Amino acid sequence: MLKSVPVAAKKPKLAFFSFTCCEGCQLMVLNCEEEFPGIIELVDIVNFREAMSLRSDDYDIAFVEGSISKKEEIKKLRAIRKNAKIVVALGACSSTGGLNCLKNRFPMEEVKKAVYGKDARHKPMDTIPARPIDSIVRVDHYIHGCPVTKEEFLSTLKAFLLGKTPDVPNHPVCVDCKMAGNICVFEKGLSCVGPVTRAGCKAVCVTYGCICWGCRGPVDDPNMNAHGETLERYGLTADGILKSFDLYGGYRIYKTGRPAGHDGPPAVLDGRKRHA
Ligand code: SF4
Ligand code: SF4
Ligand code: SF4
Repeated sequence: MLKSVPVAAKKPKLAFFSFTCCEGCQLMVLNCEEEFPGIIELVDIVNFREAMSLRSDDYDIAFVEGSISKKEEIKKLRAIRKNAKIVVALGACSSTGGLNCLKNRFPMEEVKKAVYGKDARHKPMDTIPARPIDSIVRVDHYIHGCPVTKEEFLSTLKAFLLGKTPDVPNHPVCVDCKMAGNICVFEKGLSCVGPVTRAGCKAVCVTYGCICWGCRGPVDDPNMNAHGETLERYGLTADGILKSFDLYGGYRIYKTGRPAGHDGPPAVLDGRKRHA
């Protein structure tokens, strides 16, 4: 966790970088249109490819979007870490590896073939299993979500400018969901990973008729046993929940064989045995 912010006393320079991703998180930053006039009075933005052509290697805070899926990205990321006082992982791709890690479940040769056709092996493609940026460099702070919320980006920036450590929500999405007045999807016979997922999104997916897929990653100490019991109470198996974690927990699964939040024998797998 970030201990101190050495930029509060001056006008800090911000830089935004993008690796493998859809750039939706940078778009959320650009959605701060109303706030930008105030923001640029307090900071200098010196890198933001999606918004401007200026480039500089002189910056204090680097917001890094996207996962690492090419060898050349590793070198660039290390250079960013060297230049920045603070590195912030911006969004799920950067924080946990995100959706890109789905490809890690398949042999790379198969992935290349599926994407580039049968001649893929003759084309020079620098692709490696996708991974979060903290598997390569130290990260000072995480803004979770796919995409991040504008509110969390702004509150993080505000904390940096005040020299404070930004808050990271550490309660489950269910809390946000109840506050939004939603009917739990379990009552509709669906499954959801909200009980073990980090809140801060106001449970937007459930509010708009979907389920929580866990894009913000697990809370620090997810109660997997209670979640397993909930599944059991609703007559569901754990297979569905494993698939849900698969969507955004690909890197963890690739590295450990377990969904995010499992440090010991996966309780949810115990649950799967119970339902077998
Ligand atoms: S976290 Fe989601 S919205 Fe953000 S860059 Fe990755 S895929 Fe796009
Ligand atoms: S719908 Fe999902 S997030 Fe909402 S209360 Fe139910 S389990 Fe929790
Ligand atoms: S409800 Fe779940 S999937 Fe949707 S934004 Fe929140 S954490 Fe992500």
